Amino acid sequence: MIRTSRKTQISKLTEYVVNEFSDKNLTLLDEIAKFENVPIYYDNYEDAFDGILLYDTDNKDFHIHINIDNGNKHNSKRGRFTLAHELGHFFLDEHRLGLKYGLLEPHASFHNINHKSVIEIEADYFASCLLMPKDKFKNFSAEHRKLTGNKEFSLDTILGLSNSFQTSVLSTLIRFGEIGTHEIFAVISKNNVAKWFVKSNDFPNWPFKFKVGNTIPQTTVAGEYFTKENSKYTGIESVSVSVDDWFYTPSNDNRADRQMYEQCYYSDSYGYVISLIWFD
Ligand SMILES: [Zn+2]
Repeated sequence: MIRTSRKTQISKLTEYVVNEFSDKNLTLLDEIAKFENVPIYYDNYEDAFDGILLYDTDNKDFHIHINIDNGNKHNSKRGRFTLAHELGHFFLDEHRLGLKYGLLEPHASFHNINHKSVIEIEADYFASCLLMPKDKFKNFSAEHRKLTGNKEFSLDTILGLSNSFQTSVLSTLIRFGEIGTHEIFAVISKNNVAKWFVKSNDFPNWPFKFKVGNTIPQTTVAGEYFTKENSKYTGIESVSVSVDDWFYTPSNDNRADRQMYEQCYYSDSYGYVISLIWFD
């Protein structure tokens, strides 16, 4: 975790950069790198890293290497996050100066949601703010609902954001959990095991009926997908889902009486499922 004051500092820094280099909701990463004289190399590096920022002590300049073997194609959503993360290492003084003066070892950055060091969390946060600036992100959610005539929040809001900002569904979801316009809870699972979760601050703090690293509740949409044949359900489920499928709710908390919705996103390329949960 990083402190709120540090987050504010990182977010402010990205705002200056975004103001100079963006086209509507799209942050122009290549132009940022060009302006800073940081060349980017896309190449096959097998499974060595997703991205890496290196300091060349002879020429006294920085270079970014991006690994296309890990799915980081130029301008792909994943590639954009990786590049933005490496730009974070460049823009954050402690990271850049650390590399330059040998206080920090050059390190391979991986897209991986668990067990990250502070500098990795900071670079991820920089990438998230750079690609999904707060004001634009918040405006979009309201605009999108108007445009699509869809008054209610749903997975569609997240997918619309992901397309507009060219960010992966997962990173969009994490950003929405932080600054979004609707209370959400989401569980990311793979092979019927809960890998991670995202919770917005305004979502009730109920104890979960699952543990990260263990199987997910079988009565949930994702649970059925993993355990029953032909049960890949992509619609919004409201009739057969219940708060009790996911949470232990205190009997005196009437927030649990509201209509709960659940909708799944299936990532075919990475094999994970996101269960998005929200209320009216
Ligand atoms: Zn990194």
